[in-house]
Amino acid sequence: MEPLLQPKMLEKRGEKKMQLKCKVCSREAQAYPLSEYCELHEKAYQNIRRKFECWKKRLGVEWNQYLTEIAKNPFTGDWAKKVAENLLSKET
Ligand SMILES: [Zn+2]
Repeated sequence: MEPLLQPKMLEKRGEKKMQLKCKVCSREAQAYPLSEYCELHEKAYQNIRRKFECWKKRLGVEWNQYLTEIAKNPFTGDWAKKVAENLLSKET
């Protein structure tokens, strides 16, 4: 006979739905594909990453340098700027 061991803890598993908030604004984070940002900030983040690849190849800038440039560039869109600032604050 197998011992009837059923820890109560297991029942709770997966019960709580993860409700993530965007790291920049407090909108609901994008669920699919899973992101730490809401849809709009996620899009901005993707753009930042894509541009970084070019910058890195062309100018050899580092991630932090690049983010700083974005954050202070007056031509950067508001969404991207917020994401850059958020990423920078995480680094330091
Ligand atoms: Zn957001």
